[in-house]
Amino acid sequence: MAAPPTQPVFRFAPSPNGHLHLGHAYSALKNFELARRSNGRFLLRIEDVDLTRARPAYETAIYEDLAWVGLQWDMPVWRQSEHFGDYELALDALRAQGCLYPCFCSRGDIARAIAGRPDWPRDPDGEPLYPRTCKQLSPAEVRQRLAAGRYASRRLDMDVALGLCGVRLGWEEYGEGNEAREVRAEPSSWGDAVLARKDVPASYTIAVVVDDARQGVTDVVRGRDLFAATSLHRLLQTLLGYPAPRYRHHALVRDEAGEKLSKSTAAEGLRALREAGVKPDEIRWRLGFR
Ligand code: GLU
Repeated sequence: MAAPPTQPVFRFAPSPNGHLHLGHAYSALKNFELARRSNGRFLLRIEDVDLTRARPAYETAIYEDLAWVGLQWDMPVWRQSEHFGDYELALDALRAQGCLYPCFCSRGDIARAIAGRPDWPRDPDGEPLYPRTCKQLSPAEVRQRLAAGRYASRRLDMDVALGLCGVRLGWEEYGEGNEAREVRAEPSSWGDAVLARKDVPASYTIAVVVDDARQGVTDVVRGRDLFAATSLHRLLQTLLGYPAPRYRHHALVRDEAGEKLSKSTAAEGLRALREAGVKPDEIRWRLGFR
């Protein structure tokens, strides 16, 4: 007997570190519409993993602004700050596979280690690849530093991780259309990425992978700015035995000068538009939703 078709699950995952703008509305509406058309579920995730930047007032504003543009989401809302234990379990699983190591380096240490090397490779976000300084530490040195109260971040050992996966990783990318193309993942472009920071118990990278799996997300619809990060997400999903979602990285909404919108420029903020008397239907119209 054929397996019953699984109900598609979509999610919108804003970070409560500023007010939502038209770009967020586009992404949320796109997820919502795709879920509606496929009889799927639409989930909301509050990505407040970075407690140093998340603010409760922004979270409240997210609910108000999304409801204002006419969105409804399935309950309960998933808040990352309530799932630190899940991220720690995933980090433990990676450590057990030998692909995590502690790192004591500051940004300054890294800059000094690569000083005089202008051609040092950088990751897709423009940060220098980690020179693997702490990878050379002996277990005794690591124990000594931890016992002396030094905080460590935790990094992925990319070579070990790639060796364990042993397959060519990729994903199904739909972009803006209806046809999938197979994209080849290039996780090594991120080097030994940080998966847990000193001041934050988990990084966006580990949290998003765990959350998508735990929430049963089948379709990740988000901006093209996260396209390159998907390579790293696919690697972690494979190491952790999680299924691969389908991906749709959509174009970013730009302002009149062609710049990507940001939370710090209020002009295209949903609140500012609302206060200026713009109606939700106009927002939907302007973004191409009827
Ligand atoms: N929290 C991210 C953002 O606000 C989105 C992450 C994702 O969709 O995977 O840009």
